[in-house]
Amino acid sequence: MSVAFPVFLMEVPVPPASPEGMRYADAHFHADDLEAYEPGLAGSYRDLDVVGLASAHDGAGLARTRDLLDGAGPWFLSFGIHPQLPVMDEAGLLLALASSGGLAAVGECGFDFFGDVPDRERTPANERRQRAVFEFQLELAERHGLPIVLHLRRAMDLLFEYAPRLSRLPAVLLHSWGGPPNEASAFLSRCPSALFSFGTALLNGNKKARASAAALPASAILTETDAPYQPPREAPLPGARLARDHSTFSDLPAIIAAIAALRGDEPEALRATVLENFTGAFAHGL
Ligand SMILES: [Zn+2]
Repeated sequence: MSVAFPVFLMEVPVPPASPEGMRYADAHFHADDLEAYEPGLAGSYRDLDVVGLASAHDGAGLARTRDLLDGAGPWFLSFGIHPQLPVMDEAGLLLALASSGGLAAVGECGFDFFGDVPDRERTPANERRQRAVFEFQLELAERHGLPIVLHLRRAMDLLFEYAPRLSRLPAVLLHSWGGPPNEASAFLSRCPSALFSFGTALLNGNKKARASAAALPASAILTETDAPYQPPREAPLPGARLARDHSTFSDLPAIIAAIAALRGDEPEALRATVLENFTGAFAHGL
């Protein structure tokens, strides 16, 4: 499929893939799921000098994530019960991780009422189930003073409903933010520790995400790949990369370049700010 990209994106210089001392932040990725597409993922993580928050949802995925990222460079763990499978099987492991100090964040957790399958329709029963699992995780984050990683689809009202409690957490990461700028700034004013994370959706032409990335203060912006789940549809920048069936760490320079172009910022300055935002929230002492 061919997709038209705005002309100005074509003119953005992409920072080189792995220059000395340039570190990219990947605030949300799934190493265990990326492995099937990219068996050598530890090498590309290390070569691009990424620091990231690896997301895991169950014990097997966590063990595999640890094996895969062993020796890859600095990384931090978020563990949570995904709203697409709102069951409590892994609750004990989550409790143990949170109390052991081994977690940088709880999540991804949240709400998914996208409606593509019956469990994701917004029925009273589905909402009850997703709320119960989310509230368990919100309480855990509150108790341990941990940041939270949110997955939200068609649930903006719930984000605002929980804003008073979320605002007391050290950081609230809105993974793959796709909302418009007025909602982003309304939430940021209720929850000053909110961080809006942008990925390949920006490259794929998501208008709301692009407008939010342009309008938010730089101190509230993060980058992520959600690897392997958000493949860039096309290569919007000549020579930058080929279209793929998965997203991966090498998308980070183009994501930074796209956000910088939307804001009129220097890519290098934006990369450094995003890195600071990430380490301030999840990687103290790095
Ligand atoms: Zn994810």
